[in-house]
Amino acid sequence: MTDIQRVVEEIAEEMRARPDRGEVATYIPELARVDVRQFGLAVIDTEGNVAAAGDCDVPFSIQSVSKVFTLTLALGKAGDRLWKKVGREPSGSAFNSIVQLEYEKGIPRNPFINAGAIAVTDTILSGHQPREALGEIVRFMRFLADDQNVHIDEAVAASEQRTGFRNAALANYMKAYGVLENPVDFTLGVYFHHCAIAMNCRQLAMAGRFLAQRGKHPVTGLSVVPPERARRINAVMLTCGHYDGSGEFAYRVGLPGKSGVGGGILAIAPGKASIAVWAPGLDAAGNSHLGRIALEALTRRLGWSIFGA
Ligand code: GLU
Repeated sequence: MTDIQRVVEEIAEEMRARPDRGEVATYIPELARVDVRQFGLAVIDTEGNVAAAGDCDVPFSIQSVSKVFTLTLALGKAGDRLWKKVGREPSGSAFNSIVQLEYEKGIPRNPFINAGAIAVTDTILSGHQPREALGEIVRFMRFLADDQNVHIDEAVAASEQRTGFRNAALANYMKAYGVLENPVDFTLGVYFHHCAIAMNCRQLAMAGRFLAQRGKHPVTGLSVVPPERARRINAVMLTCGHYDGSGEFAYRVGLPGKSGVGGGILAIAPGKASIAVWAPGLDAAGNSHLGRIALEALTRRLGWSIFGA
C-alpha cells in the first residue's frame, strides 16, 4: 500500500467516526434526502496513481464544483474578454448574494458566486442553443473524467429550476445592466442543468487533473488549457472557491479548492495531485464540513499545502 493510500484510508475512517457532520442542504428534496453519513475521498497524483476510500464510487450532485469547468470553457471561448463581464475578487458575502451587484453595475465579483457563474454560463451559451451549450459542458466533463458515464441528474435540474427564484433575480438584475447577452430563461436553464451534473469522487478527481498538471489532459497529454491559464484558474479557486469561507479554507487546507452545496470539494495540489472529497453535511457558509476537515488532515499529513509544510 502506498503512503497516500494509507493516509486516505485513515482519514476516511476518522471522518466516519466523527459525530459532527454538518447539515445537508434542504432547498431541494433531492439534496435534503441524501444520507449525511456518507464520506468519499479520491486522490489522483500526476502519474495517475489513484488512492481512494469510503464512498468514492457513489455519484453525488457536484453543484457549484461545475463552475470550475464552466469557467475553463468560457475562458477558452472568450479569453480575457470574460473578465469584462465578471471580476476575480473574493466576495466576502454569501454565495447567492445580490448586494454587490448593485454597487458594481451588475458585474459579479467573481466567477464562483452564483451571479458570476451565471454570467460565465451566459458566455458559453452565446451563439448556441441551450441544448448545444449543455451538450458541450457535459462532453467536456466526460472528456476530462475520461468517463462517458458522467451525466445530468434531471430530477435535480428540475428542482433547481422550480425553486431557483434567487438565481432568477440575480440573472434579471445582470440582464438589466446588459451583462447577460442571452434570454434569461435560456441562461438559467443551462446553469441549473450544469449544477445538476452527478459524478463520484474518482471521476471528479480525474476531471480536475489538468489543473494539477499545467493544463495537460492526463490521458491524451494534449493541452486542455495553457499552463498560465491553469495557474490562474487555481488562483481564483484559492481566493474565491469557498464563498465567504475562502479565507478559512486557505488558512486550514492551503490548496486551491471549489466546493458545492451537494457536499463535494475539488482541491488541487499543483504539480502533485487532484483531490475530490464528498461529505454531504455542510457548515454555516454552505461548504462541506467534513470535506474541509478531511482535506486539512490530508494536506497536513502529506505536507501538500502550497504555503509550506
Ligand atoms: N445550484 C446551486 C444554486 O445555484 C448551487 C449552489 C452551490 O453549490 O453552492 O443555488
